[in-house]
Amino acid sequence: ATPMSIMVGTGRAAQLGVLFRKSEALQQLRDAKVVAFDKTGTLTEGKPALADLILNDGFEHDEVLALVAAAESRSEHPIAHAIVGAAEKAGLALGEVTDFTANAGTGITARVDGREVLVGAQRHMNHLDFSGFAEAIERFANEGKTPVFAAVDGRLAAAIVVADTIKPTSKAVIDALHVMGLKTAMISGDNRRTAEAIAARLGIDEVRAEVLPADKVEAIKSLRQGNGVVAYVGDGINDAPALAEADIGIAVGNGTDAAIESADVVLLGGDLRQVLNALAISRATLRNIW
Ligand code: ADP
Ligand code: MG
Repeated sequence: ATPMSIMVGTGRAAQLGVLFRKSEALQQLRDAKVVAFDKTGTLTEGKPALADLILNDGFEHDEVLALVAAAESRSEHPIAHAIVGAAEKAGLALGEVTDFTANAGTGITARVDGREVLVGAQRHMNHLDFSGFAEAIERFANEGKTPVFAAVDGRLAAAIVVADTIKPTSKAVIDALHVMGLKTAMISGDNRRTAEAIAARLGIDEVRAEVLPADKVEAIKSLRQGNGVVAYVGDGINDAPALAEADIGIAVGNGTDAAIESADVVLLGGDLRQVLNALAISRATLRNIW
């Protein structure tokens, strides 16, 4: 493309709310073979709600919810917001939190009024026996819902199910990418079955699930090895390294500053369909259409 047409393309894109932070991104995007998406907050709304709380024997609903919500009140994770919201709605008083620690991609640990509380994925408390929950976990996960778990003083207390909503535009975007001849992928830290259920609903070609934040970079590298040039679309803090690793990192608007800093392309306004505009403008520019 001529410098002139790159300039015009960048300008056209900006008018639509697609900011190319580097002109090379406009050129590289045309060569993309696979578009990989973050799940939570990118393909889904990222505002999960509590869908169910299944108690283990010997535990009481309000007590467990209050303990878990107190611990989660220190976390910024969307799952934490869902749990704290549910406890507030139930009018529960939350105890005093000490010794809070968050493990990226697995869960949190804290003391609540002196009791040890763990909340997170199965891998956050792998020493416990989950067999009593297996059937429920599978059922909810197949519905695209996320099961997390709570342990109190070393005993498994509950399975907590949160449900996020797929954005209304996600399916159309995936379909359009396929029509353009691109492969689609999803990278998520979420439960494998949950991620696969959501990917299946959207028709996404390839799923990488239960990926720790630090391993999202590896997931991008392996997608590149298998397919060629990778565009990655994400929104969250966790996404910054993946956005930087991707050949074209695309941050969807309302994203965090870290995500925007690491991105080559920023989509203002948070509408996922802007991914299609970005691709269309890149293709038009490289055909020297303006
Ligand atoms: P995502 O790719 O969906 O943004 P994360 O890496 O943030 O995933 O989290 C992956 C998984 O770790 C979650 O699905 C959940 O099981 C667990 N997890 C992380 N933080 C928390 C938390 N604060 N409360 C409960 N579970 C958590
Ligand atoms: Mg996200």
